[in-house]
Amino acid sequence: MLVYTPQLQQPSVTLTVSRVHPSSLVIPKTVLEDRKAKELQLWAAMWKYVNGQNCRSQILAAYFNERVETPCGICDQCVAIQRQSADSSWQSELLDKIQQQPKTWEECIVLCSGVAREQVIEFLRIQLDLGICVEKGGVISRKV
Ligand SMILES: [Zn+2]
Repeated sequence: MLVYTPQLQQPSVTLTVSRVHPSSLVIPKTVLEDRKAKELQLWAAMWKYVNGQNCRSQILAAYFNERVETPCGICDQCVAIQRQSADSSWQSELLDKIQQQPKTWEECIVLCSGVAREQVIEFLRIQLDLGICVEKGGVISRKV
């Protein structure tokens, strides 16, 4: 006997190896662990960007393995730091005194006698991070 199969009008694919049923498909554990690690890295990067208190440009640059030395000064974090800095008069007085003559960390702390030591140090670190001041050999001066 002869069986006649009419030619199809559409293209067809013939699999030479039978397909694995999804219920018996096995993904190697190392592949799953790699995927999980990559997902966790992405979440950590996002968390750092959203909740971080550093310059957004610096965070993004770091994500792409680049380095931005100074904060951008225009992102929400930089603006918030600048506003915070401008709010207190002791801070502007300290900056004026540093501009007149460079000061050591201890001299700055003594000049701000009514302010907590940690507050003065944090303020100066922010000024250094923003590039408003520069430190050389323990002496802080105002960047011109
Ligand atoms: Zn910024």
